[in-house]
Amino acid sequence: MPEVVFSVDQGKSMSEQAVPGHNRWHPDVPVATMVRPGSDFRVECREWTDAQIGNNDSANDVRDVDLSRAHMLSGPIGVEGAEPGDLLVVDILDLGPVQAPQEFGDAPGQGWGYTGIFARENGGGFLTEWYPESAKAIWDFRGQVATSRHLPGVRYTGITHPGLFGTAPSADLLARWNRREQALIDREPDRVPPLALPPLTDNSLGGTATGEVADRIAREGARTVPARENGGNHDIKNFTRGSRVFYPVHVNDAKLSGGDLHFSQGDGEITFCGAIEMGGFIDFGVDLIKGGMETYGVTTNPIFMPGNVEPRYSEFLTFIGISVDHENDTNEYLNATLAYKRACLNAVEYLKKFGYSGEQAYLLLGSAPIEGRVSGIVDIPNACCSLYLPTAIFDFDVRPSSAGPVSADRGMAAISS
Ligand code: ZN
Repeated sequence: MPEVVFSVDQGKSMSEQAVPGHNRWHPDVPVATMVRPGSDFRVECREWTDAQIGNNDSANDVRDVDLSRAHMLSGPIGVEGAEPGDLLVVDILDLGPVQAPQEFGDAPGQGWGYTGIFARENGGGFLTEWYPESAKAIWDFRGQVATSRHLPGVRYTGITHPGLFGTAPSADLLARWNRREQALIDREPDRVPPLALPPLTDNSLGGTATGEVADRIAREGARTVPARENGGNHDIKNFTRGSRVFYPVHVNDAKLSGGDLHFSQGDGEITFCGAIEMGGFIDFGVDLIKGGMETYGVTTNPIFMPGNVEPRYSEFLTFIGISVDHENDTNEYLNATLAYKRACLNAVEYLKKFGYSGEQAYLLLGSAPIEGRVSGIVDIPNACCSLYLPTAIFDFDVRPSSAGPVSADRGMAAISS
């Protein structure tokens, strides 16, 4: 096992750790530990909400989750010699739930994880207009396989990956983020859910910073929800073991941070909290390509090479969506977001014929290893997106046939009271 350079006691909040992490992006978050290019090391992570969600049968905790505390990031890990303009080469050597072999306990990642549908008033999700209430599925881990008492009839192999890692922004880059995101918010300031999240001092955690530095981080620090030029919350399920990521470096020491580990996730992470969320560990190797941003033209986003490890599903049932609002019979011009929404809704309607509730189907599509693709993006006026659902994750035949779907009692998702 590589040396643990950032450790987490899963019985404590991130703010109470011996060396706390952080939950805002800011260049002044102090380095938690330094590593050398060419070294391998382990980072331990809290689940992204700092374990506000419990292993129980109520979604009240998802409904009431305090998003000002998210995401809890481990780091920053300083890399010796890294300077702005370099590319930070990050190999994902291994990752998994809390300790291996698995540890069991109350914190997500200790043998279990969860998928949540956020309430429309508190975060929302991709299908929040259709499913505005909170719901939850608890998943139990056995080796690589996840099953849920809230989604009987389904079991699948997880494609474990980190939802969120990135380098620190420079002061200039941070100011640009804050400016452009505020301009977006100003277009429709009262929207629910909001168009973007401005800096928020409540529950800001700036690592080991204290006093004026901590106050500045709280005042200016960017929220961690979106992906940006530093990497950030990509939620790309293919950042799995064996991946090599090339992150732009914007500050001295690069300051790599992250967390939000996922046991599994479908493309799009559609419920917003749509992966199987967990705390755990991640092993990295790092190196530098000096001046690599300019050399390779990699300046506005990382690039990466996915690992070779993923579940082997060979048969899929594919749902297609087009950029038509079928409720109002209205066309939208090449709107891929709407097209993917329709593909998801078409899959939900299909799964309901087998006895699942809409919420159960939504939770399943967010967390199972589904493939989402932009299939056609030029055929005016309709963009075409597709969602590939592996048939082998069901313990019944989910394929269409002349015999019709076998509907059964499929239990229910955890809901709020
Ligand atoms: Zn996540």
